[in-house]
Amino acid sequence: MNQENQREKLKQVFAKRVTTQARVVLDTYQKWRAENWEDVSRLLDLRDGLNKLDRYAARFDMARHKEAALVILKILNGLAGPHPNDQEISALDQAIQKLSECTQRKSDAVSKHGTAPASPRTFLRTPVYLALNDNLYAERIISQLEFFGFRSISFKNADDLIEAARQNKPETIVADVDFNGGECNGIEVIGRIQANHETPIPIIYVSERRDDMKTRLMASRTGGEEFFFRAVDPGQLIEKIELYTHGMPLEPYRVLVVDDSRSQAKHIENVLSKAGMVVQVITDPMQVMDALVDFQPEIIMLDMYMPGCTGMELARVIRQQDRFHSVPIIYLSAEDDLNKQLHAMSLGGDDFLTKPINPKHLTATILNRGRRARTLLALMIRDSLTGLYNHTHTLHLLDMEISKAQRNGQPLTFAMLDIDYFKKINDNYGHPVGDRVLKSLSLFLKQRLRKSDHIGRYGGEEFAVVLTNTSEGDARTILNEIRERFNELPQPAGENIFHVSFSCGIAGLTEETAQQLCEKADQALYQAKRGGRNTVYVYDPTGKAH
Ligand code: GH3
Ligand code: MG
Ligand code: MG
Repeated sequence: MNQENQREKLKQVFAKRVTTQARVVLDTYQKWRAENWEDVSRLLDLRDGLNKLDRYAARFDMARHKEAALVILKILNGLAGPHPNDQEISALDQAIQKLSECTQRKSDAVSKHGTAPASPRTFLRTPVYLALNDNLYAERIISQLEFFGFRSISFKNADDLIEAARQNKPETIVADVDFNGGECNGIEVIGRIQANHETPIPIIYVSERRDDMKTRLMASRTGGEEFFFRAVDPGQLIEKIELYTHGMPLEPYRVLVVDDSRSQAKHIENVLSKAGMVVQVITDPMQVMDALVDFQPEIIMLDMYMPGCTGMELARVIRQQDRFHSVPIIYLSAEDDLNKQLHAMSLGGDDFLTKPINPKHLTATILNRGRRARTLLALMIRDSLTGLYNHTHTLHLLDMEISKAQRNGQPLTFAMLDIDYFKKINDNYGHPVGDRVLKSLSLFLKQRLRKSDHIGRYGGEEFAVVLTNTSEGDARTILNEIRERFNELPQPAGENIFHVSFSCGIAGLTEETAQQLCEKADQALYQAKRGGRNTVYVYDPTGKAH
């Protein structure tokens, strides 16, 4: 069997899994309806089934099923009472009808269009759509986006755009306010597109002539998240596109639960996982140190009373470490004595949840704490220009990863990058263009490295990367590829286009400390600069890096 056939076959298997799950949902709904909505457990089953469907459909790229599942979930989550009222029933029936249609869609498509598509359109990854009057400009954006791994499609007329958006919802649309005709035609077209979707597509508007309040208001009402007036620089546009595509899906909160009662901990885990969080459970408080390092929780939940040590004692130990000073700690206990709770809070806790815990209250508390903790943490550990980790935090991550690598016997490589002749870029094109180059490199690294790698802005035009579970040789190949591609990236400055390179020094972990590993990478970087720049050098103990 050739590769194409194999892929096709796999797709069919995946598609089947999604359709089977959709049938489970349809079946549960019919039963619940037939029982006149009496059995409340059906609602829970239905929610579970839909969540599963949502996950499967996302994993196998079946956008229609995913959308249908989310619409139903939204209605269920908004139910005013335990049983749906007439209005809610009619909305549910409609949404269920949509889901049932997608399970038949494939054969429909075949008969209607006469051609048999090898795979339904819904398998395609959602792209970025461009609706711009200036074709040359659109082409420039498309080629820039390609460098960042985005698939974008440019449309020349409104009908094609509307049809394409209906078939395959894009992640974002960049549109001229006067696309394809009259003064605000672009905004009207977008309005029609949005009407086809439950959740709006984020729109980036570009306007050549109009910048008045009325236009801006119309734009904003049709999902306009951004509004650029005149001659927007492609670099700026791409930053925004990044924001509304890859930047959008928030990483789930990581919650550590420490409770000696496994069933209690499991209950919390279930509730929080259903709300989309990642949960790690520990039943032995003595294991907490390893979990802090390996799991890097953003929120910690501690049982008040456990054998061996109390939650308050544990909190105190956690708080003694700088790194975990600001992680919210929430106590869990059957304790309802206010004085004891206050005492516990004074010992470094942020909140108190009393058992038995109401799932809604639990989720809401954790989400609120998580959101705030992330905002505060970002201010502490991230660089404001690029959003990458700052110097201190990069070193901290390197430290953490070194101990993890040593424990697991895995390789680790540290890389330092420095932009070549950056001063000249500032001198020739100005500081703001220099800043944009820094952002473009940061974006480039984010897109090309794995999620498990850590990228930091080490200094002005210096970047550092911690490549986990990566040998020196592999790191060199990866960084060389990035170096070459980055150098090909056209950097716009007004009418001009220029190219930028960087030099890079890498060092693989042997037995040194974070500080020593940095020095090695730094030495290799220095050699790379001396060796002529735009190159990657590996640290060599004999001093002859190559
Ligand atoms: P080399 O190839 O040897 O690395 O030369 P270089 O010009 O890149 O290095 P040098 O260290 O001489 O100059 C770095 C310049 O980077 C100097 C500084 O003004 C500029 N710089 C530092 N931080 C920023 C920043 O945040 N934005 C901008 N635009 N420039 C910055
Ligand atoms: Mg206990
Ligand atoms: Mg430099």
